[in-house]
Amino acid sequence: MENCIFCKIIKGEIPSKKVYEDADIFAFHDIHPAAPVHFMLIPKLHIASLNEVEEKHQDLLGKIMFLVPSLAKEQGCTDGFRTIINTGRVGGQEVYHLHAHVIGGGTERLPVMIPNPS
Ligand code: 5GP
Ligand code: ZN
Repeated sequence: MENCIFCKIIKGEIPSKKVYEDADIFAFHDIHPAAPVHFMLIPKLHIASLNEVEEKHQDLLGKIMFLVPSLAKEQGCTDGFRTIINTGRVGGQEVYHLHAHVIGGGTERLPVMIPNPS
């Protein structure tokens, strides 16, 4: 996709701090980290969001999830981490190239994401 910033990051047209790369997947640090460790895994294939995922993408999605714990540990998440995939407007997605956030690395429990209304 021509105007996709994450496609440009994959191609090296926009610089990033790379965490991991293989034939199908790219991982890099978030420019505005929410915790001591905050990186994202993205498919090299431009898929806008989870809403655009098709049956043929199942292996790719599985590969992304499989990589999460080993990369998280490698980056310093020794006692857990949070994985987030924001989807669409209500999900708060800002960049429309599917990405899984991995957040952690501190010593404290991460804040509750969606407070219980009661
Ligand atoms: P979303 O809200 O779509 O789930 O998350 C998009 C994330 O991409 C945000 O956390 C934002 O900080 C990050 N981001 C946006 N532009 C860039 C960029 O050019 N480089 C990097 N490394 N991260 C970016
Ligand atoms: Zn893209």
